[in-house]
Amino acid sequence: MTVSDRVRRQIEKRDSHCWHCGATDNLVPHHRRNRGMGGSKLLDTPQNLLRVCNTYNGLMESDPVIATDAREFGHKLQSWRDISDPVFDQSELTWYKLTEDGDRVKTDAPSYLI
Ligand SMILES: [Zn+2]
Repeated sequence: MTVSDRVRRQIEKRDSHCWHCGATDNLVPHHRRNRGMGGSKLLDTPQNLLRVCNTYNGLMESDPVIATDAREFGHKLQSWRDISDPVFDQSELTWYKLTEDGDRVKTDAPSYLI
């Protein structure tokens, strides 16, 4: 994990609990868009990182149903999706936009889900 201390502190402040289950323990940084082969540091940004519990982090990779949900909720982004696409907090039942400076702002559900 190569996330800088600064970005790590930003997302720790923003994400007090797992975006999936609301857990506050064993949280790890998860990349919405995979860094892929090159491992670009450009993707180690607050908009591309979510803190999720270790369990969910693993299930997004191993369970196809959970991976599909994770894409709908903006937890995972295919390469053509926009980094500014909103993210769903499943424990709060609220959509958020993530800002470049490490904040999150409530927003409406995205039109592609309506
Ligand atoms: Zn969780």
